[in-house]
Amino acid sequence: MDAGKALSSVRILGVRVDDVTMAETLDLFQAWITEGETHQVVTVNPEFVMRAQQDAGFRVTLEEADLAVPDGAGLLWASRLLGHRLRERVAGSDLLPLAAELSAAHGYRIFLLGAAPGVAERTAELLTQRYPKAVFAGTYAGSPAESDEAEIVGRIRAARPDLLFVAYGAPKQDLWIRRNAARLEVPVCMGVGGAFDFVAGVARRAPLWMRRAGLEWLHRLIQEPWRWRRMLALPRFAGAVLWSACGRAR
Ligand code: UDP
Repeated sequence: MDAGKALSSVRILGVRVDDVTMAETLDLFQAWITEGETHQVVTVNPEFVMRAQQDAGFRVTLEEADLAVPDGAGLLWASRLLGHRLRERVAGSDLLPLAAELSAAHGYRIFLLGAAPGVAERTAELLTQRYPKAVFAGTYAGSPAESDEAEIVGRIRAARPDLLFVAYGAPKQDLWIRRNAARLEVPVCMGVGGAFDFVAGVARRAPLWMRRAGLEWLHRLIQEPWRWRRMLALPRFAGAVLWSACGRAR
């Protein structure tokens, strides 16, 4: 698991974020699929960064991932303040349909794991409508419980996917992939949070103008107000970044 480590990266409050574009990410996926070894991709956002400050297991998972894409407008803002500008936002929710497009072009096999029962199936159905040649090797809700891992890993191995998307929310999905990476034998394994819910229409994604304005968090808060406690990570992130930028300036 080392191909991503040669990338140029930025440290934001100690957490590594790779300076990759969407196109470079898709190129890496293709290279990894050709090569065949297992790789873990994490989609870093400000909530990840704040969680990593207190959760050592999650911090190590992010540090040792093969690719840490900048998911979240807050990271681009922070990178500018901290003096090394990340070029582009690479959101997991955008990568999923692009991976389906890649699958349609090259015959890559995709496995969707996680979300509520039926959501992964619906996601595969809708992506197949959009990209009829995309290959869905399997879908399964399962659960992130350790007791279910052996059975889930068996299913995935039997399906022989090239790309595995895991929607158990962070940090569960990322820890799940890390624990099982060695026996999965899947070239691209990536946690995608609520991405299946967005494709399947279970949750609504922020309109493009809000995403462009860096306001996806506000849309999320309006749609799912119970997330407010978790989302306190965002002002804490902004405060810590500003503090760190002031320290650099001094
Ligand atoms: N989820 C799941 N099992 C769990 C916890 C979560 O399948 O035990 C799914 C949930 O249905 C949703 C996704 O994981 O599809 C998490 O989405 P969320 O938007 O909360 O992701 P996060 O913001 O935590 O990355």
